Amino acid sequence: MSARVIYPGSFDPMTMGHLDIAGRALEIFGELKISVVRRSRKELLFDVKEREELARLSVAEAGMEEKVVVESFEGLLVDYMRRTGARIFVRGLRATSDFEYEFQMELMNRRLAPEITGVYLMPSESNIYLSSTVVKEIASYGGELSTLVMPAVESALRERFGEE
Ligand code: ADP
Repeated sequence: MSARVIYPGSFDPMTMGHLDIAGRALEIFGELKISVVRRSRKELLFDVKEREELARLSVAEAGMEEKVVVESFEGLLVDYMRRTGARIFVRGLRATSDFEYEFQMELMNRRLAPEITGVYLMPSESNIYLSSTVVKEIASYGGELSTLVMPAVESALRERFGEE
């Protein structure tokens, strides 16, 4: 599969919100590469191999595995995209706080690599308040996860928080 469209992120872990955006990106582009960044500005619960594996399992459980590949990368997004020949990346927008951050990153990425374009998609209302951070918080208190993540992620979280 060509690496034309990338969906980059920490995916710590993958949620229904990420899958929502991936599904919309597939509607537009027909294929997608989910790229799990090794290091993040955020504190991470799962290491990169675990995040990659949980993303792959989630994609399969969501029935998208034929059109989506999952891999990981290190370093700057624009360097990785140049290396792999990708020119479009997809990001999700929830609140204005996402917008502020993404706007700043987009302008900086453009300065570094003018040939690369970001496409910004909004999730359904039911996923608008969903984040990996919220999911981890709920999991840490043993809360209900079934509408927030796919089963593979739910069991990984239960195991991580010692309930299995
Ligand atoms: P990052 O650390 O790169 O922001 P995340 O895994 O937190 O990585 O998010 C990856 C991308 O997915 C971001 O563009 C983020 O806005 C988007 N995203 C995450 N959760 C949702 C959601 N519930 N709805 C829409 N987009 C989302």
